[in-house]
Amino acid sequence: MERPNSAAASRRSLLRGGLGLGAAATTGLAAGLWPAGAAQAATAPVAPQAAAVDYPSAAWAPASTANYTASNRPSSYPVELVVIHVTQETFADTISLFQNPAHAAASHYVVRSADGAIDQCVREHDIAWHAGNWDYNTRSIGIEHEGWVDQPAYFTTALYHASAALTAEICDKYGIPKDRNHIIGHSQVPGTDHTDPGPNWDWVRYIRLVNGV
Ligand SMILES: [Zn+2]
Repeated sequence: MERPNSAAASRRSLLRGGLGLGAAATTGLAAGLWPAGAAQAATAPVAPQAAAVDYPSAAWAPASTANYTASNRPSSYPVELVVIHVTQETFADTISLFQNPAHAAASHYVVRSADGAIDQCVREHDIAWHAGNWDYNTRSIGIEHEGWVDQPAYFTTALYHASAALTAEICDKYGIPKDRNHIIGHSQVPGTDHTDPGPNWDWVRYIRLVNGV
């Protein structure tokens, strides 16, 4: 996680795919993963963040503007995917990491294990660096879930229900089919070595909940 601030400016354009969280991350993302035009966008001025949320029951816990790319989705890019993550950190530590400008990653939402409380860290119109893949970042909403891939007790009923309700609302808003082709795990993103949400994440249950059945 530790990256010296002095390196941030030059490395950010490489890291902006979003290393995300998790023990499986490598420190050496291959250069050239993203188009040259995208690197220019990373240096563009970032618009001030409005203190507002896209999901009414979420609390606004803004990530550092260094950890995402300001955008105007869905005009700039279609929103076609929801990417499911597991934090490998506590909820509070995740929020802190996203507020650290040297972290070079953030997700749109973080769901708390114990009670399903949701913080929004990046506005949906902006491109959060969560998937480790610039193309996927541009087209997705990233949702982190408090827990560890090898500790299924963190995947509580409250967490599943709260997250599924959020994903359902996102799918309705952008016309995203509520299926496993469009609601994917971080581990399914091309080029990633992340394993989240891992084998303990109950996809059948989750997709059923997203569909309200
Ligand atoms: Zn992840």
